[in-house]
Order: sequence, then C-alpha cells, then structure tokens
Amino acid sequence: MATPLKVFYSCAKCPAYCCTYPQIPISKSDIRRLAKGFGISEEKARKRFTKKGEEKGTRVLRHRDDHIFETACTFLDPETRGCTVYEFRPSPCRAYPGTARCGYYDFLANERNRQEDPELVITAWVADV
Ligand code: SF4
Ligand code: SF4
Repeated sequence: MATPLKVFYSCAKCPAYCCTYPQIPISKSDIRRLAKGFGISEEKARKRFTKKGEEKGTRVLRHRDDHIFETACTFLDPETRGCTVYEFRPSPCRAYPGTARCGYYDFLANERNRQEDPELVITAWVADV
C-alpha cells in the first residue's frame, strides 16, 4: 500500500508503540537487508535479530526489555524512541500503519488533550481489529 500523502499522526511525538508488537514478521529479504546493513552473514542476522514466530515457519523480530513498555524490538533506541536501523528496517515497519491514521496515536493524542499533559504515555492499549 502506498504511503498516504497526508497523515494524522506524528511518530516523533510517540513512544513507538508499534515497535512493541510481539509478532513483527520478517521475510528472507528483510533478513538479507539487515545482514547487508550490518555487514554480517544472513545466517548470523537471522539468528541474532529474529526468533521463531507463533505461526509455524515464520520468523519475527527479537525483543529486549523496555523501560516504558515491557519489551520492544531489539532495534528500538530506548531513549530517543527511534529506529536504529531505519535505512534497512524490515518491510512491515516500512508499510506501517499504511493508512492516514494510527489508532494508537489517535488514542494517545486524545488522552494527552483530555488530561492536558503533552508528555503523557499510554502503555496499555488494544487495537480494534
Ligand atoms: S504507534 Fe503510530 S504514531 Fe507511534 S510510532 Fe507507530 S506508527 Fe508512529
Ligand atoms: S526495526 Fe525499527 S521500525 Fe521496525 S519494529 Fe524495530 S525499531 Fe521499530
């Protein structure tokens, strides 16, 4: 899906909730891109950065502990909340959210507005699926 021209969310003002999704699927070409970016073999990148997904035969991004959410993608900078592999990030990260709105950001922005706290962070939120 092409990125919409106008979007109603700001990743720069968000603690990167989407990077905490536990099952971000990683394809062979994503692993290839990561391996190239780090200058290591695909096998090493596969083992180092991904683990078995819940769905049989899939690989997902590894997590590590996070001080805001319980865990987050191993590539998320815990302080800046930015992606440390932005140039060679996996395809699901490039496509997300794929619409003009981000559900988490809508909720966060509403709560920040309602509670008059622009720094507020919502750690428990369930997407409407
Ligand atoms: S949750 Fe939404 S606003 Fe936050 S970083 Fe992800 S896409 Fe951006
Ligand atoms: S690779 Fe980057 S954009 Fe993708 S989940 Fe990890 S930190 Fe977020």
